[in-house]
Formats: sequence, C-alpha cells, structure tokens
Amino acid sequence: MIGAGVEGGAGSRRLADGTTMPLLGLGVYLVPDGEETENAVRWALEAGYRHVDTAQAYGNEASVGRALREGDVRREEVFVTTKFNPRLEDPVAELERSLERLGLDAVDLYIVHWPQGGPTWAWPGMERARERGLARAIGVSNFSAEELEVVIAAGEFKPAVNQVKFNPFYFRRGLHDACERHGVALEAWGSLTQGNEIGDSALAAVAERAGRTPAQVLLRWAVQRGVPVIPKSRRRERIAENAQIFDFALSEGEMSALDGLDRTEGTDVALENPWWTTTGRARGLAGRLVRSLRG
Ligand code: NDP
Repeated sequence: MIGAGVEGGAGSRRLADGTTMPLLGLGVYLVPDGEETENAVRWALEAGYRHVDTAQAYGNEASVGRALREGDVRREEVFVTTKFNPRLEDPVAELERSLERLGLDAVDLYIVHWPQGGPTWAWPGMERARERGLARAIGVSNFSAEELEVVIAAGEFKPAVNQVKFNPFYFRRGLHDACERHGVALEAWGSLTQGNEIGDSALAAVAERAGRTPAQVLLRWAVQRGVPVIPKSRRRERIAENAQIFDFALSEGEMSALDGLDRTEGTDVALENPWWTTTGRARGLAGRLVRSLRG
C-alpha cells in the first residue's frame, strides 16, 4: 500500500467506477506516427509498462495500435487511454474513429483533452461513449477544481480521472485535494517537467541521497502519493529507467523537500496558460519572451 486507493507491487489505482489503472504508463505526445511510436510502445511493454496514453490530437493512435497487436502482451493486460479533441464536435463519432485507428473494440479510458468551449458541453457525448461500451472509464484533462465541480454537478457519471500538469514544481496541492475530495483520480502529465527542470540542483541533491536518477525521483514523488504518471521518452534506455520506481521509497523529509519546490502556491487551477483562450495564448507568449530575454 503506497497511498490512498493504491494497490499492488508495480502499483495501480482503483478508479471510482471500479476500473483499475496502472500507476505507470507511457505517454506518446510528440512521438511521430510510425516507427518511433511503435518502438517506444514495444520497448515500454518489454520494460513492464501496462499502460499507454495517446490522444486524437497526437496523430499516432494507429502506431500505438500496431505495437499493441504485435507483441506477446495480451490486449486485456494493457490500459489504453485516448483523448477527445474538443475542437471536434462529437465524442462518440470521434471515439469510433480512434478505435478504428487503434484496432481496438474499446479503450480503457477516454478523456476530454481540455475544457475548450466550457467544461460540460462534451460530457453527455462522453457518457454515451461509455454507455455504448466504447470506453470503460471516462475522464477529463486540464480541468480546474471549479470546472471539475461544474461537470460533476451536470453529469450522470463523474469523471474517473483529471489528467493535469503535476510535478514538484507544479504541485497544485489545491487541485490534488479537490480531486481526492470528489473521488476523482488526479493523473500527472509533465511528471518529468517536460525535461525543463531535470537538472535542478535541489532535485539532484535528493536524487543523489536516494541513489536514483532525477527522473526516477520525480516519478516516485508522484506515485508515492497515489498519482498515476505517464512519462514520455523516445529512448529505450530512458523508457527502462523510468520504469524503475517501485523498488524504492522517498522518506518523509525527501517528499517535503520536493513539495517545497512548488511554484504554484498550492493552486487549484490546472494550467497557467490555457492555450485555447486568448488570454492563455497571450500569457504563454509573454512567458516565452521573458525566458528568451533571460537567455
Ligand atoms: P514529460 O514530463 O513526460 O517529459 C518528457 C521529456 O523528458 C522529453 O523531453 C524526454 O526526452 C525527457 N525524458 C524522458 N525520460 C527522461 C529521463 N529518464 N531523463 C531525462 N530526461 C527524460 O513530458 P510530457 O508531459 O509532455 O509527456 C508525458 C505525457 O503526458 C505525454 O506523452 C502525453 O501522453 C501526456 N500529456 C498530456 C497533456 C494533456 O493536456 N492532457 C499535455 C502534455 C502531455 P526524450 O524523449 O528525448 O527521452
């Protein structure tokens, strides 16, 4: 037992609707369709991953599907997530297209990728997808505590998962607590800080003490509190390295040292720059400009 609702040696989390999600998955954002995605998924399965996270917007569902069919691992052993692109209209029709590309009868989790157009409009379509057996669980992504509450109040089923940017530097304690309160599993994207803070000195100090790599420490920090992670890598050795996180534990002191790196002041908001809104785009642009001026 390594956290609330967390089970098993390699780690899994029971979701509110009864499905079980492995705590470690491979993310394939920005991995090109074709050989690179197929290799990454194959290497992940060989390294023991039983969970893959893709999306309609990533354009690589077909390669994920091919890699899943090729190996020795049975379909029912792997937890497969895809995400509804909210720029499109119909979650059911788009999931049918995803399933065709993936070569599957159903996904384990289908997520609204971001709350473009408001938190509720896509939800009835997501519920229909579940009722029709096309998705075992349904969830959301990049939803703030407030947006989560609105969709829970409006829907028949609550989201099983809220997938958000979450790591020691973007701790979002308020959002984590709101998810726990509502029985929604917070799932982390950006668990490796998208590579940006891997060289941080405070992180390096914890890693050195633990005798692990900074990437392993970041992933362990999340799974130790029951948060599923979906690190992305195109490299075989890193895919294997990122899987070695269930044979050590961080001490309470190490966990709090990492908690102290938070730059979000414990926010319950999911994103600093919601890219689908004008203000979010402007803030993102300003941030990039400041970073480039700082060199
Ligand atoms: P991550 O935080 O997982 O970081 C990925 C970066 O870290 C890559 O540059 C990778 O480089 C590098 N990296 C991987 N392993 C190591 C390691 N052991 N040591 C050092 N560097 C390493 O990024 P993302 O959050 O972008 O990706 C995770 C997944 O989350 C995505 O693939 C996607 O499935 C999901 N996601 C969801 C979003 C959403 O809106 N719901 C948004 C973004 C991502 P390299 O490949 O060269 O190894």
